[in-house]
Amino acid sequence: MTSSTARVDLDGNPIKPLTICMIGAGGFIGSHLCEKLLSETQHTVLAVDVYNDKIKHLLEPDSLPWAGRIQFHRINIKNDSRLEGLIKCSDLTVNLAAICTPADYNTRPLDTIYSNFIDALPVVKYCSENNKRLIHFSTCEVYGKTIGSFLPQDSPLRQDPAYYILKEDTSPCIFGSIEKQRWSYACAKQLIERLIYAEGAENGLEFTIVRPFNWIGPRMDFIPGIDGPSEGVPRVLACFSNNLLRREPLKLVDGGESQRTFVYIKDAIEAVHLMIENPARANGHIFNVGNPNNEVTVRQLAEMMTKVYAKVSGEDSIETPTIDVSSKEFYGEGYDDSDKRIPDMTIINKQLGWDPKTSLWDLLESTLTYQHRTYAEAVRQSIAKPLAN
Ligand code: NAD
Ligand code: UDP
Repeated sequence: MTSSTARVDLDGNPIKPLTICMIGAGGFIGSHLCEKLLSETQHTVLAVDVYNDKIKHLLEPDSLPWAGRIQFHRINIKNDSRLEGLIKCSDLTVNLAAICTPADYNTRPLDTIYSNFIDALPVVKYCSENNKRLIHFSTCEVYGKTIGSFLPQDSPLRQDPAYYILKEDTSPCIFGSIEKQRWSYACAKQLIERLIYAEGAENGLEFTIVRPFNWIGPRMDFIPGIDGPSEGVPRVLACFSNNLLRREPLKLVDGGESQRTFVYIKDAIEAVHLMIENPARANGHIFNVGNPNNEVTVRQLAEMMTKVYAKVSGEDSIETPTIDVSSKEFYGEGYDDSDKRIPDMTIINKQLGWDPKTSLWDLLESTLTYQHRTYAEAVRQSIAKPLAN
């Protein structure tokens, strides 16, 4: 709840209520950011998206305490002249809109590149021309592969953080060859980052770029066949949740050897909140936002999710909890992978004093509790239906 005493920023200055144009507000991150801004601040959100299912609870009914501080605009930013007007009447634009599921990068590379580069161009242009601040969501994938991944398997340098820690101002961006279309997303995101940076340097655009490192939590993606297409392939949290709900083995792509660091969505949203309310500290910066302490291989993630799900659902796990699949079988031709993703936290720590708090076990426990509560019955019915017919 909003406190009655005036809120101040990290430098002790009072925070003025802002109007925020949030593009992609109906997605996973957008829904959590809307919740935060409405329940803990006095800011107004102009929520732009083609869908609003994940923020319906914030839009209705009119009696909600924040009624009047959120408007939903069903707009496809590819082709809608209303976008410029919304950016013009806002103090800040947060752009989250993107195709950002790896299964699309190699199978729909054109849509991926258009969504992550071409469609973001007018947003950058309108912000720059109208002197409006922009917080743009990029990705940790702009780092691509680690330098260490090119060393021989037994090289001791692989253990040296200089060869794998990903640092905003010094790490290179290392992608695979063009036929590895997996990198279409990372490359489009890299180019829009470079364009935003150049708008800042040449035209004075006030910008912040966010590089999320595997943010996970409730409302991420969809459960195939329940609130998304049966054949759809979401990101790993939803894939594994779907397998657990259906009592199927979790599929480990290419042995599940890739490593990731996972951060709880609620911790990560704190970081974005700080960026919004501390422009003097956030403008002109690129921020890694992740949890370096939550590193696991995908295999370890599968094992931990299996244990946590057994605990929260009260069901024993199945006899063969995981199976191996090749990436070609799972994602098709042109898939490639980031080997390891550990964020350097120096810049966000220094500028905003932000640190993630939630352990992997705890964030999986609250997320899988949500998945079980939200989907278990619907999955049970969808499995029972064909038998009944
Ligand atoms: P999401 O898919 O849940 O949300 C994206 C939203 O953008 C969706 O609601 C979608 O409908 C909307 N959108 C897409 N194209 C649009 C268009 N043309 N017009 C209007 N709305 C449109 O994804 P998310 O996880 O919330 O990610 C948000 C941003 O963060 C993306 O830019 C993504 O690349 C970046 N990101 C997220 C993660 C993560 O861990 N979740 C990791 C790296 C990068
Ligand atoms: N993955 C997997 N099984 C699945 C889904 C994903 O082994 O059912 C792997 C995928 O190959 C990658 C990691 O999990 O190595 C994380 O995938 P995600 O889709 O979350 O996106 P990424 O972190 O690669 O952007």
